[in-house]
Formats: sequence, C-alpha cells, structure tokens
Amino acid sequence: MGIDTPSGSPLLAVSEAQKQILSALQPVQTTTIPLEQAAGRILCADVSVHEDLPAFASSSMDGFAVRATDVASAGPDQGVPLQVAGDIPAGSQPTFRVGAGQAARIMTGAPMPAGADAVIPIEDTDQSIHAGVSDLPGQVIVFRRVRPGEYVRPAGQDLRRGTTVLPAGRQIKPQDLGLLSILGLTAVPVYELPRVALMSSGNELATPGEMLKPGQIRDANTYSLGALIQNSGARLIHLGIARDDPRQIQDLLDSAVSQGADLIITSAGVSVGAYDYVRQIIEKDGRLTFWRVNMRPGKPLAFGAYRQVTLIGLPGNPVSAFIGYLVFGQPAVRRLAGLPPAGRRRAQAILAHDVESDGRESYLRAEITSQDGRLTARLTGHQGSGNLYSLVQANALLIVPSGVKSLPAGTQVDIWPLDD
Ligand code: AMP
Ligand code: MG
Repeated sequence: MGIDTPSGSPLLAVSEAQKQILSALQPVQTTTIPLEQAAGRILCADVSVHEDLPAFASSSMDGFAVRATDVASAGPDQGVPLQVAGDIPAGSQPTFRVGAGQAARIMTGAPMPAGADAVIPIEDTDQSIHAGVSDLPGQVIVFRRVRPGEYVRPAGQDLRRGTTVLPAGRQIKPQDLGLLSILGLTAVPVYELPRVALMSSGNELATPGEMLKPGQIRDANTYSLGALIQNSGARLIHLGIARDDPRQIQDLLDSAVSQGADLIITSAGVSVGAYDYVRQIIEKDGRLTFWRVNMRPGKPLAFGAYRQVTLIGLPGNPVSAFIGYLVFGQPAVRRLAGLPPAGRRRAQAILAHDVESDGRESYLRAEITSQDGRLTARLTGHQGSGNLYSLVQANALLIVPSGVKSLPAGTQVDIWPLDD
C-alpha cells in the first residue's frame, strides 16, 4: 500500500494507516457505575429485558374499566348504566372483579381489573372530569361503545422479555437511562474512560499568558487537541509543553506512562528537522511503526509506542495537528472507549469552483452552504497547514482522494461536517 517517494521512504495510504492504528488498540477495562453517572458512557455489554414491559395491562385514560359487550348498544343519545364496583388509582392492585353490568373507576396507568377488557374515557360518561377522590359514584352512565382492548395498554406492548434493548458499544442517551431505570437497573456495565496524555513540543512555544520572547509563538495545539480529545470521550492528561530537548521530552512521556495513559498524543517533532526528537525517542525507547502518511495537510505522522503505551505523533502545524487528530486520533480514542470506529458522518457537496491538490489524500477547509436543496462547497481562505483562521471559518473538510490533482467546479465531492 506504500507509495514510493523520490527519497525512497514509503508514504502510507491514509486508510492503511488508520487500519494499523486500530488494530494496535483494544478497548480499555470495564467497570460498573450507578445509573445517575451513566449518561454519555459506553455500554460494555448488551442489556436485555427479563420481563415484559409494561409488566401488566393498564389503562391509558382516566375513565371506567368495562366489559366491551356490556356497552355495545351505548351511543351519544343512548346511555348505558353500569354499577360501579370499585375505584382503581394508579399504583394500586384491584382485588375485585368487574362482573356483567359493572364498571370500575380507573386512572391512567392503573392496572386493569379482572373481568374488564376496555376503558371508557371519563368524557364519554355522565361523570365529571373534576370529580374528586371521595366522589366515587354508585353508578356510571356510558355514552359510547368500545372495542375490546380499547384504551388499554397491554402487558408487553413496549417490549417482550428476552429482547436486547441496548447493545454493547452504545453511548448511553438520556432516553436510555429512562428505559434502564424502568427495567430496574441501578448500575450499568460500561467501559472506563480512556486516559489520553497530550504533549506539545517545540522551543518556540509559549503559553497564552506568557510574554513572548523574540521568535516565540503561542501554543495552539494544547488547547484545540485537548478539547478534541475530551469531546471524543476521553480523560485528558495534560503533559504541557516540552522544549526541543530529549531529556525533557522523555520526562514528560515517562510521566504519561506513570499516570496510566492508554494513549499518548504529541504534536510536532516528528518530521526531518534537526530538532525533531519525538520520533527519535520512540525509535529508541519504544516502537516506530510508521511516520509518513500520504495525506495533506500532515504528511509527517508518527505512529508507534513509547515504552508500552501507544503513541500518535501528530505534526506541529496547528491545522495539520487538528486534522491529523480527526483522521487518526479520534478513531483511536473511540476504539479505546469501546465505540465503533465510524464516528463521522460523510456527505456529498458540489464544488462551487475549481480545486487544485497535489495528489495526496487532501482534507481541505470548506464552507458548505445549502442552495436549491443541494449542498455547495467553497474553500475558506488560505489552506496552508498553519492557517488556523480558515479552519475556524470552515464548517466541513472537503476530501480530495489520493491521486487526484484537480477537480473542476461542479464536481461532486465527499465532505466531513465539522460539527463538534
Ligand atoms: P515541527 O513539527 O516541530 O516542525 O513544527 C511545525 C510547525 O508547527 C512550526 O512552525 C511550529 O512552530 C508549529 N507548531 C508546533 N507546535 C505548535 C503548537 N503547539 N502550537 C502552534 N504551532 C505549533
Ligand atoms: Mg519543532
């Protein structure tokens, strides 16, 4: 799958690099957590129902439980009187039976009494919707017919026992929590949150609050990558900025190992510059699986391990680092988190203008607008790998496949919406 370059060092195809990264990673440990802490977490086992849901037949209206045959002749001008055998509030269990010619007052959600097979809404009787608890009448007059089963929620209507309702790998949504709680679960089995350590590197980097010395720039990647990592559902370990000094880089990487990182993500220092020590260090004290990918921006991308911890070395330029994370880091974190790999929605748009590329698989910054019901793509500003503003202006990445050097206006292209 490698593409030979004049220098003889192979450029790995993006899809091949993604495959190698994913095959090196396993989901992290599992644990059990209380339901109230489970929103957004990833289930590590299927959840099945052990009883029918709902467990018993209940009324779906406030009204009177009846036998449908008893009210077959009822109509707006023909009331049928029934004797009221009892009252069934929600949360109670009727102990009496509704016999021929009888009815029971029943509230929404209350269990159906034996003998009755349908419910007449209170609006279709002579009783007031304002009747109080103590106003249980001795008789009710019914002004409509019902089919057997009408206004009754049968047992098992929602779910039959044995159904797998939530599969392993599912990110728990608020509605899932409602269901889990109704099923009687107080705790759920989930994956631990992966621990991802993040390190920036470069002598030129200062933090946003620092006075800049000549030649210094402020660190962008700690912030943008840190947020991306957290959005992927990982626990972030901030290593900070390492100078271009092998000792200091190694100290920070060691601290990632001792803090139990499942994955280390670094930016910068993986190219061919004299001060690019990150790559050299993992070659020495870990493993370098590959370090060049047929991609733009972001060709220098190192993958391997530092000691036993998997490491993705992103390029330093802020846009390359960002896009490199989306393409390689996010699937890796999803894998550790127990999520299925395909996280991003792809869509198609029509190019509003010609686009040039250089034959590498390119991820260009684009603004997608909807015109006459179809999506149109335009590049945003300068596409250099350090130009963060055009990334801020973009709402999608436009993907130019490998081997393609130009695309005329009107071409349909793949896009990746940038919506998180
Ligand atoms: P390098 O990969 O070390 O050759 O860095 C490539 C370019 O990215 C250089 O211009 C660096 O100054 C810049 N760069 C590296 N790290 C960062 C960072 N954390 N924030 C902003 N720019 C960076
Ligand atoms: Mg550097």
